[in-house]
Amino acid sequence: MTNALDLRDLRYAYPDGRVALDGVSLSVAEGERVAILGPNGAGKSTLLLHLNGLLPARLPRDASVHVFGRPLIEETADAARRAVGLLFQDPDDQFLCPTVREEVRFGPEQFGWTEARIAEETARALAQAGIPDFGARAPHHLSRGEKRRVCLAAVLACAPRLLALDEPTSDLDPRGKRELRALLRVLPVTMLLATHDLELAVEICPRSVLLDAGRVVADGPTIALLSDEPLMLAHGLERPHLLAHRHPHPPLPDAP
Ligand code: ADP
Repeated sequence: MTNALDLRDLRYAYPDGRVALDGVSLSVAEGERVAILGPNGAGKSTLLLHLNGLLPARLPRDASVHVFGRPLIEETADAARRAVGLLFQDPDDQFLCPTVREEVRFGPEQFGWTEARIAEETARALAQAGIPDFGARAPHHLSRGEKRRVCLAAVLACAPRLLALDEPTSDLDPRGKRELRALLRVLPVTMLLATHDLELAVEICPRSVLLDAGRVVADGPTIALLSDEPLMLAHGLERPHLLAHRHPHPPLPDAP
């Protein structure tokens, strides 16, 4: 089976010379859900931005990005953008339209689909994101959690084969986090999830890749990685509470 993603020796420095990716190689099979973990500045967002050709038009020699078996080059960038749905970290970066319905229709309208298909995909995406009755509202008037769902619906309406999510639960309240987790858990799509929310990683992604300073420092089952306290601490993270060993409370003294 073709992999959803194959990265080979991906390197990227921003125009000011700061190296964000320092030789990342990674393969993700179709249907996998992989968390990309790492401290601030590890290169997680930069990695996701490469997946649909948002960053460089040309990669360094010997580096390659393959999306569903096709090399990502200038000529294939449009096809990659259709295959990869990227959910940005800040929902306000994503809004283009005055109403939620127009926002969610925007992507499908660019694809030349029939009106019936556009309406069907829009309704499906709104329902998948848990916002079937938001259509007429203005995206900018919504709460953070609602904005995230609208962005997710807009991405899902394009029927991506690979969903790349950048910190989807940052700044959500506990209920918003819970609801988003429940949504993500049932989406039938290959997923790459860059996050600091380690509990989200445990719940959604059987596999995790740990990045630090633009390099992959660990790649394996999420529970094994996150339970490795020295590894977590060495890379600016911590073992999530839900994996911590339980220390039983000391027994209460006998009643006199
Ligand atoms: P993460 O998502 O893991 O926090 P980023 O991919 O945002 O990491 O950043 C990786 C590195 O690239 C960091 O050192 C960051 O400061 C740098 N960086 C990110 N965006 C830019 C930019 N637009 N210009 C220059 N450096 C940047």
